Amino acid sequence: METNIKNLTVIQTNSPKKIPSLNELGFGKHFTDHIFTMDYDPEHGWHNPSIQPYDALPIEPGNITFHYGQTVFDGFKCYYGVDNKIRFFRVKDYLKRFNNSAYGMCIPQFNEEELLSYLIELIKIDKGWVPKYDGTSLYIRPLIIAMDNALGVRSSYTFKMFIMLSPVASYYAEGFNPVKILVEETYSRTAPGGLGSCKTAANYAASLFGAELAKKKGFTQVLWLDACMKKYVEEVGTMNIFFRIDDDLITPPLEGTILPGITRDSIIKIAKTKKINVCERKISIDEVIQAHKDGRLKEVFGSGTAAVISPVGLLSYKGNDYVINDFKVGEWSQYFYDFITSWYYGKAEDPFGWITILED
Ligand SMILES: *Cc1c(COP(=O)(O)O)cnc(C)c1O
Repeated sequence: METNIKNLTVIQTNSPKKIPSLNELGFGKHFTDHIFTMDYDPEHGWHNPSIQPYDALPIEPGNITFHYGQTVFDGFKCYYGVDNKIRFFRVKDYLKRFNNSAYGMCIPQFNEEELLSYLIELIKIDKGWVPKYDGTSLYIRPLIIAMDNALGVRSSYTFKMFIMLSPVASYYAEGFNPVKILVEETYSRTAPGGLGSCKTAANYAASLFGAELAKKKGFTQVLWLDACMKKYVEEVGTMNIFFRIDDDLITPPLEGTILPGITRDSIIKIAKTKKINVCERKISIDEVIQAHKDGRLKEVFGSGTAAVISPVGLLSYKGNDYVINDFKVGEWSQYFYDFITSWYYGKAEDPFGWITILED
């Protein structure tokens, strides 16, 4: 197939898959027909950009990624609008973060503008896969892995990048569902000076043990506290966290141990324009519990691309359960959710210039 993008090779599938129906979607279970790949070696830099059918790869067991986790990813979405146009939300910011994660993992920087042009080509080819139902989207997963085969611990010289696409349903079956969260007192996800601000495998590996224990006890996610003192709140699962105490909106600051969420940043910016008093500051779990006891903890919610806003209905800490807002969706949670999702689907103009429309 023809493309105007310099050096981009495109090989289209001759056996397209069946596109899943709404009730088959789920989250991240299906992959579209095509994938983007690009290679890195010290002599050629990032080269050989190509779009090809999604397929298995020949990879050696000695690949560094499997042993030492030199890999980064990101996750964002595009949406099918009420005007039949496809929209991205803050796509350049996500690609910038992907590059920042790469930097933190000794993976060479790529050209973000070029990558965006390849991504647009990929989405155009698999356009039919962008689901059209309310609350659905096409999830975009860029990934870089090390490609050297070596058993010594060191940074790889060669890498491979992928962008895969997955049609996904609304994170919630119907509207919002407040979730139950366990405040984790024993395990840590990241530590100061560690990799907490990178979307890299190690952080998720470190979270599995605590998260699985919490699930067995009936909780959806874990709320991580700081690794040193187990005192300050950090983030929850794969989401950043917000507390509404009286009419202040509080979220922990970006100091390297939490992921700089694009949804988090969007909420802060929206809140500022709405004259909501939003503070990025350290907040201890004791302050949260005390605010609950004083009847001042009005809402708690997580923020992330997958769910946008996830209301927290219950926090469990030191064996005590604290129910928040009668286990109902809070006023501000609903407000931010409706506000942001209306832009995704072209139901309202976004005043920040965060939307990019995919031209035909
Ligand atoms: C991706 C992620 C977030 C949320 O970031 P968004 O850009 O809003 O999707 C928060 N915490 C962790 C650990 C994450 O991996």
